Amino acid sequence: MLKRILTAAVGLAAMSAGALAQGYPTRPITMIVPFAAGGPTDVIARIVGDHMSRTLGQQVVVENVAGAGGTTGIIRGAQAAPDGYTIMMGHMGTHGAAPALYPGLKYDPAKSFDPIGLAAGTPIVIVARKDFPAADFKGFLDYAKQNDSKLNQAQAGVGSVSHSTGVLFNSVVGIKPTLVAYRGTGPALNDLMSGQVDFMTDQIVNVAPQISGGTIKAYAIATPERSPALPDVPTTKEAGLPGYEVSAWNAVFAPKGLPKDINAKLVEALRAALADSTTRKRLVDLGGVVPDASGQGPEALQKLVESEVARWTPVLKGAGAGN
Ligand code: ASP
Repeated sequence: MLKRILTAAVGLAAMSAGALAQGYPTRPITMIVPFAAGGPTDVIARIVGDHMSRTLGQQVVVENVAGAGGTTGIIRGAQAAPDGYTIMMGHMGTHGAAPALYPGLKYDPAKSFDPIGLAAGTPIVIVARKDFPAADFKGFLDYAKQNDSKLNQAQAGVGSVSHSTGVLFNSVVGIKPTLVAYRGTGPALNDLMSGQVDFMTDQIVNVAPQISGGTIKAYAIATPERSPALPDVPTTKEAGLPGYEVSAWNAVFAPKGLPKDINAKLVEALRAALADSTTRKRLVDLGGVVPDASGQGPEALQKLVESEVARWTPVLKGAGAGN
């Protein structure tokens, strides 16, 4: 008898999970962006989320939950119900650098999530206020070495992309500027444009339009090749700092334990977004690198996260930023 009741109960639970997944989504989906509006993570989330909304038949609504270099929003996302109604846009900082910098971090980038897929690669660009007194990257490095104590460097909080790539930059160049923290590089960019801070290292999708518009200066891009979005900006190697090559990325994660069909729907919606020519163009025009088929999907993202945590931990410790 008991066995029959139990079997029936298990059957019911399985059915309701199945029915839940079948109807999914029946209401809007929240995508947590762990930084301020207007920055690169926010921009990529809105571009990708826009197309995912169309595939899923429900709005993907961005919620900005900034703080602690992006870890505040990601903790919130990791602890949300794994029902497909809360997902998040993480990045190289929250899912790569953060464990080296937050000893008690309340999530494990490789274990606390169901990875959905990579959204875009984002090369790092070294940018400065437009009246920075150096004509090229070499001049910038010379000036920075002589005046580093007077320089203000913007970044989006400990463990963020701008912070970790910025700390690495300072260590490679041998400078110690003052770090100024923002809730994202969207607001940091506003202060760079108005000349309140001197420079930052940031994801290309945030800064490309302002570089093209001449409201800030780009000294170099930290990738082996130039970006088609910024063809006039030299690589760090071309410009004389080959030891500084670094790239970031943004990716969609869900809290661990999603029902299989819901997981599959989200993976497919992201895949469809990246296959859509208008969505791709919006990312590429900003300098984003759309992953090819082998770089898309949960497995590739899981591998990327594991390799990024392994890569960043010694790098940040070596740069004097680790614990
Ligand atoms: N790019 C920022 C960072 O430094 C975050 C953001 O505003 O999206 O991590």
